[in-house]
Amino acid sequence: MTVLELHDVHKTYPGDPPVRSVRGVSLSVEHGEMVAVIGASGSGKSTLLHLMAALDRPTTGSVWLDGHRVEQLSDLRIAALRAWRVGVVFQQFFLLEALTAVENVAQGLLYRGIPARRRRDAAREALNRVGLAHRVHHPVTKMSGGERQRVAIARAIVGRPAIVFADEPTGNLDSANGAEVLTILNELNQAGTTLVVVTHEQRVADFCQRRIEIQDGTVVS
Ligand code: ADP
Ligand code: MG
Repeated sequence: MTVLELHDVHKTYPGDPPVRSVRGVSLSVEHGEMVAVIGASGSGKSTLLHLMAALDRPTTGSVWLDGHRVEQLSDLRIAALRAWRVGVVFQQFFLLEALTAVENVAQGLLYRGIPARRRRDAAREALNRVGLAHRVHHPVTKMSGGERQRVAIARAIVGRPAIVFADEPTGNLDSANGAEVLTILNELNQAGTTLVVVTHEQRVADFCQRRIEIQDGTVVS
């Protein structure tokens, strides 16, 4: 089953001159895959991730995500698609610093209209899946970088999305913490999560079954 499909996708940022960040990318991701998108800094990886995750619309071309053609949906439908079917992990974690681990993870279900109690139960279970069962009520400010990123991963998977995207998930971590995060991502994939990891690090790409290399906004291999 195909979860994600891009056909000749372009993204140009307006300006003088305009920046042609993504130039004619076509790719597809099947259910259960763990795919790396690898390329140098500035090659268009983050732009591509935003397009794949329906966080942004392409200038031209089409994006099919979980059976929906993203650029034809209203903003409201896109927001719903993101809330129910997509998880995203960023390099900077983007945790709410005043909250505990379980509170942060429960935020991943905020836009689904689920009662607080059920959000919390699901959040505990997600923390379990990333090996943080012993850290449920820990303030995130008191956690290591690797633990913080695992909280962010738990927040991304708590709603059992169809696909999870990670943009340089180890970029802010030392090698030990980075390895910990890669191990968790691998385990989640083994358990059935479809994953797309965007990275400039070969060591991260080597963790994935399939690698898509981009250069200057174009797939080169
Ligand atoms: P990567 O993640 O591979 O480092 P990006 O997708 O962040 O690459 O950037 C690709 C190109 O698009 C760069 O030249 C960058 O400066 C430009 N770019 C990214 N975001 C924007 C934006 N919001 N407005 C204008 N230019 C942008
Ligand atoms: Mg980037």
